[in-house]
Amino acid sequence: MFHKILIANRGEIAVRIIRACKELGIATVAVYSEADKEAMHARLADEAVCIGPTPSSKSYLNIPSIMAAAEITDAEAIHPGYGFLAENAEFAEIVIESGYAWIGPSPESMRIMGDKVRAKARMQEANVPLVPGSDGAVHSIEEARQVAKSTGFPLIIKAASGGGGRGMQVVHAEPRLPAAFNKCQTEAGAAFGDHTVFIEKYLEEPKHIEVQVLGDKHGNIIHLFERECSMQRNNQKVLEEAPSPSIDEATRQAICEAGLNAAKAVNYEGAGTIEFLLNPDNSFYFMEMNTRIQVEHPVTEWITGVDLIEWQIRVAFGEKLAFTQQNIKMKGHAIECRINAEHPFKFTPSPGTVELYHAPGGRSVRVDSALYTGYTVPPHYDSMIAKIITHARDRQKCIRRMQRALDELAVIGITTNTELHKRLLANPGFQRGDFNIHFLENWLKQIPS
Ligand code: ADP
Repeated sequence: MFHKILIANRGEIAVRIIRACKELGIATVAVYSEADKEAMHARLADEAVCIGPTPSSKSYLNIPSIMAAAEITDAEAIHPGYGFLAENAEFAEIVIESGYAWIGPSPESMRIMGDKVRAKARMQEANVPLVPGSDGAVHSIEEARQVAKSTGFPLIIKAASGGGGRGMQVVHAEPRLPAAFNKCQTEAGAAFGDHTVFIEKYLEEPKHIEVQVLGDKHGNIIHLFERECSMQRNNQKVLEEAPSPSIDEATRQAICEAGLNAAKAVNYEGAGTIEFLLNPDNSFYFMEMNTRIQVEHPVTEWITGVDLIEWQIRVAFGEKLAFTQQNIKMKGHAIECRINAEHPFKFTPSPGTVELYHAPGGRSVRVDSALYTGYTVPPHYDSMIAKIITHARDRQKCIRRMQRALDELAVIGITTNTELHKRLLANPGFQRGDFNIHFLENWLKQIPS
């Protein structure tokens, strides 16, 4: 096994990775920006190296600085976490070419999946269902009009290199098409350095269902069932659960099988997620693949019993998966609430000093966080400060357990979105599992802030 791993990240995910390393007997190196001197990840790791000033562009995204930290500490492998450089194929290549192990998929699979047009072409070859739309990139308004004849309206124009919910234009009628096309092209160029756009039919009431996969370097690849991630605001997930409360067994099997085929089509190694949109009639379509560990991985860990971070490390080292598809069974239900330092209904950020932090506990409650009493949440990074995860034998019990866990949570000194979660968990539509990706935003329009 590796002797020492450098974690190129911060916050709860850096802490999560350090915890996994400790349990495996692997030494850890944290990297931190000037704003993060007092951060939990820098304190928990065996060694910590400052990699630059506060802005992430100068620290957590500063490749030469991170590589220098790996060299001076004699680390053998680099774990990128999520966000920052996790899906940067060039970084993965630099890591590998410099003689370190990359805890993630091959740069080649990252490149294919990072380009949505290339990814869709590969998925088509593998018979993974795609949202009806253009055959590859669309270069002109005239071409867009032709595509619109087959997709109809509404349609969505998307940037091939887009991400984070940016670079998308929904078009409801023909007259808006030229302006939206130009806008999407221009914005894609400005934001991602690539003007390439493509068109899809806009699905009106889909659910966001994603499939967790895990592959090793020996050609073994399995899925670990699905997660339900329809609770979103501004294309950002708020609460996730596993399994999905509203798909039948046949749909589950079909979607997990499609996810597995998608991963196999790029010879995927490590942990990855295939995102699908599911229609009310149970038809589903590939949306994209995330070639990294995801924020919401704990819900899958809880229903399957597989430690995904541990297995990311093991397969990167070259170990074979110790289980087959048949060994992976689903047990009970898990929910994750993302606790953010922001107003629960106005969504204004609320960084600052935490005067008191008390984490919930008790049976089947997990808290992934880098928070502690006296810590100052910096305004410069992601606002997520904790993930509360609960597990129970069924969904109803899991919801109750989450409600009592959130009642125990105390974060004094800054504002958090805990109240949003409490209200959502009590919502009858949520409790019935009767929702799609618009549910949260529609509900927020109705409730007084
Ligand atoms: P990103 O890489 O920016 O996250 P995605 O392709 O994953 O972009 O899409 C982000 C979100 O946009 C989805 O979760 C979904 O809510 C919405 N979306 C994307 N494509 C479609 C579509 N064809 N129809 C309806 N909604 C879509």
